[in-house]
Amino acid sequence: MSYATSLRCRKCGGEYPLKAVNLCDFCFSPLDVAYDYKAMSRRVSRQALSSGPPSMWRYRDLLPVEDPVVDIGTGFTPLTRCDNLGRELGLEQLYIKNDCLNPTYSFKDRAVAVAITKARELGFRTVACASTGNLAASVAAHAARAGLRAYVFIPADIEAGKVVGTAVYGPTVVAVEGSYDRVNALCNRLAEAYGWGFINISLRPYYAEGSKTLGYEIAEQLDWRSPDCVVAPSASGLLFTRIWKGLNELSMLGLIEPVNTHMHLVQAAGSSPIVNAYRAGTLHVHPVEPHTIAKSIAVGNPADGHYALKVVRESGGSASAVSDDEVIAGMKLLARTEGIFTETAGGVVIAGLQNMVRSGVIRRDELTVACITAAGLKTQEVVWDVVQPIVIQPTLESFKERVPAAGTAAEVR
Ligand SMILES: *Cc1c(COP(=O)(O)O)cnc(C)c1O
Ligand SMILES: [Zn+2]
Repeated sequence: MSYATSLRCRKCGGEYPLKAVNLCDFCFSPLDVAYDYKAMSRRVSRQALSSGPPSMWRYRDLLPVEDPVVDIGTGFTPLTRCDNLGRELGLEQLYIKNDCLNPTYSFKDRAVAVAITKARELGFRTVACASTGNLAASVAAHAARAGLRAYVFIPADIEAGKVVGTAVYGPTVVAVEGSYDRVNALCNRLAEAYGWGFINISLRPYYAEGSKTLGYEIAEQLDWRSPDCVVAPSASGLLFTRIWKGLNELSMLGLIEPVNTHMHLVQAAGSSPIVNAYRAGTLHVHPVEPHTIAKSIAVGNPADGHYALKVVRESGGSASAVSDDEVIAGMKLLARTEGIFTETAGGVVIAGLQNMVRSGVIRRDELTVACITAAGLKTQEVVWDVVQPIVIQPTLESFKERVPAAGTAAEVR
């Protein structure tokens, strides 16, 4: 049984039943899932959570769904201590939260696992989404597992790896000629015209709740404490706010100390409406037209940008942007130092982190968690220049001739 009690308007507090709605009828603000935290706190404990399955479903009691859940093994991804990269950047305690290792290779699986479970519970036979690529793959995979039909809408120009990684699960893929913001606007109209469960629209309150498991895992994997700093990428701003919510819920439930974490948000300079607002000292976000290789986070009109800025303020964090060249350098740096191949959004995070350490925004002794939200094979084309194999004949002579440096290495082994 779930401890969710209703949907509640973030602004006016208006209450709604736990159905597929995402906006308040009166003030058009987003709806969030409300819980009976008192009853929940009697049930959850560190020990009960830690003895759960090695997936996000170990936090089932903190999520707004009933059994059976749609489970393809999402979550409880590694939190890896990264001393090589830490040394390079000048950080003494650096961890990578590696969400490349989810079933469809991105953090979106967390959000979708909850939203699709809820869609099925509410009786939907068809689900749909607007996506920059990662959400599409995740919706398609979870729908396959749940036995639901899926329609996914993507910008026509997204990376090939993301289209293949979606189409293989058998959804109807619709490529829209226009930016993500145009795709999303279209889907808002489709959501009214068709009775489908739109994962990132009508089911958004549940989608949001799935994202907060990233925050839970970080705290549990640090042996039940909140880090000094979290660095995370931002598209619509939702994930960023939910990492914060996840940490604060654990504190409210008495599972960790009061949260004293600085939340640092990063965007690509070519799509940085949230960072622009931060620099202008306002909580009001002006839409932009995105131009960046970091397509997964290229959202020009971020629905939760305002709330992400509030989290930055409340937590004493920061918001900054990096260039596309820095993104590529960040991807290569993480791969070279830690053996983790991330897509462009992860390059945004590593480059942003590097700048923050250099400028003193993050101090060298602060325990820092960098969130790597999707895997590198999804965006291979941006690092294609690393592919320079030495071509030889299948003979010892050819190898010796073409790779002379190997000889000296062999002597010292
Ligand atoms: C969707 C996504 C994000 C963040 O999305 P929000 O809309 O801000 O929640 C971050 N990284 C990757 C790789 C994503 O696909
Ligand atoms: Zn309202």
